[in-house]
Amino acid sequence: MSRRGLEAALGAAVGPDHVLTDPDLRVGYELDWTGDYRGSARAVVRPGSTAEVAAVLRLCDRAGAPVVPQGGNTGLVGGSVPDATGSAVVLSTARLRAVDPVDRDAGQVTLGAGVPLAVAQHHARAAGFEVPVDLAARESATIGGMAATNAGGTRVMRHGTMRRQVMGIEAVLAGGDVWSHLAGLEKDNTGYDLAGLLCGSEGTLAVLTRVRLRLVPAPSHRVTALMGFADLAGAASALTGLRASLPGLEAAEYMVRPGVDLVRSVFGTPDPFDRPHPAYLVVEVAGATDPLPEVAAAVDGLAGVLDAAVAGSERQRQALWELRERHTDALAAVGPPRKYDVSIPLARLPDFVEAAVALFAPPNGPVCHHFGHLGDGNVHLNVLGLHGLADSDLEAIDGAVLGLVADAGGSISAEHGIGRLKRPWLGLSRSPAELAGFATLKSALDPRHTLNPGVLLAD
Ligand SMILES: Cc1cc2nc3c(=O)[nH]c(=O)nc-3n(C[C@H](O)[C@H](O)[C@H](O)COP(=O)(O)OP(=O)(O)OC[C@H]3O[C@@H](n4cnc5c(N)ncnc54)[C@H](O)[C@@H]3O)c2cc1C
Repeated sequence: MSRRGLEAALGAAVGPDHVLTDPDLRVGYELDWTGDYRGSARAVVRPGSTAEVAAVLRLCDRAGAPVVPQGGNTGLVGGSVPDATGSAVVLSTARLRAVDPVDRDAGQVTLGAGVPLAVAQHHARAAGFEVPVDLAARESATIGGMAATNAGGTRVMRHGTMRRQVMGIEAVLAGGDVWSHLAGLEKDNTGYDLAGLLCGSEGTLAVLTRVRLRLVPAPSHRVTALMGFADLAGAASALTGLRASLPGLEAAEYMVRPGVDLVRSVFGTPDPFDRPHPAYLVVEVAGATDPLPEVAAAVDGLAGVLDAAVAGSERQRQALWELRERHTDALAAVGPPRKYDVSIPLARLPDFVEAAVALFAPPNGPVCHHFGHLGDGNVHLNVLGLHGLADSDLEAIDGAVLGLVADAGGSISAEHGIGRLKRPWLGLSRSPAELAGFATLKSALDPRHTLNPGVLLAD
């Protein structure tokens, strides 16, 4: 089918107003959040229902046009934008925003794939529930994108990643077939776990159109504390103690002084203590009764704590979180940084971080910032000063960093996925037999490789 013919057919399927071909209208869909991945799309299509998604996929599959599913475009590995060839159609889920009433009996809700996390949170809270996954990009990141990347965030240590919350899915395969399995039954041993398969598939196997999510009862109390330590190893061993004494521990995030200085210099955020500390731990405990006395007692009894602050109000709680959550924005403001989102066994994490930072050479060379979800052994390395290097140099640096991850027994992707960024390194975390299994699945479900070619798997 000709370019014009495909555009006209897409217009007939979703309405001409929802097929964007004007470069000025497409541009926001062609650049990713990091600024590192900029592509070109032949069109951006915004279907408004599962049937329209099926029609779009059927047309593109037959026309041999690659399709890049896109939610909030907050992904950090280049998976949500097209490549530079101008051959792909971006399928935006922005109009898939249906929100079903919360099923209070089951503690579940079915949401359109394009519903932003913050909207889902608001909807769940109004019914006395909470979405178990939370992350700083909540205003834009969508439920479909979070399922497709198996997003993690700050509460994984208590509730698990997105895959554990997804109780059912509706999804469209490249050829237009629809999988709809949304009953949300706790017990449902009827064969393959297709919802689980699509979680983390990064838009390469199907387009999610609806997701049924498990909710948890909204805790009536939340207490947040910030502690300062002499080093990261001190923060890691304190966490082991806190885990044992605080069953309601929901989040344990770490940051180090250079990152805190950066956030303060970019956003003017106040210093939390009178004196600086090399490492910090933010913890949050939630419960049906006020956990403040338990938290205060647990922090008091901890070895290695040099300073501690417990938030006594929602405003103070937000201020403590702001220091940690604004790291990504602060780095983007002075960057762009090269990002490595990895997980490491907790016992080896401080040594790994030391070795990774030592790969770079401040004051004049690149600088490696790091922070992360300590409770899950998840480190976000962000290296400033690499932008503009030749691809071959960047690849050598990626190889050195991710090689350290493999040596430490870690995973090269903790929560952001593989995307385009980490595709060459997938073999560090997956065996040849597993990769052959991936290729078999891809060919079976998407024989023409229409969905997100070049992402996750070699094309
Ligand atoms: C400030 C900031 C903080 C962040 N913090 C975290 C964090 O703590 N934890 C974490 O896990 N991530 C984090 N992220 C990364 C990002 O928010 C997540 O990866 C999120 O899940 C992406 O959702 P999205 O809707 O923006 O997806 P997009 O960026 O649009 O897409 C991501 C991938 O999913 C695919 N996709 C999107 N929608 C669908 C769909 N409906 N069907 C099939 N495939 C689809 C895309 O093709 C792409 O491969 C952060 C990002 C930012 C900018």
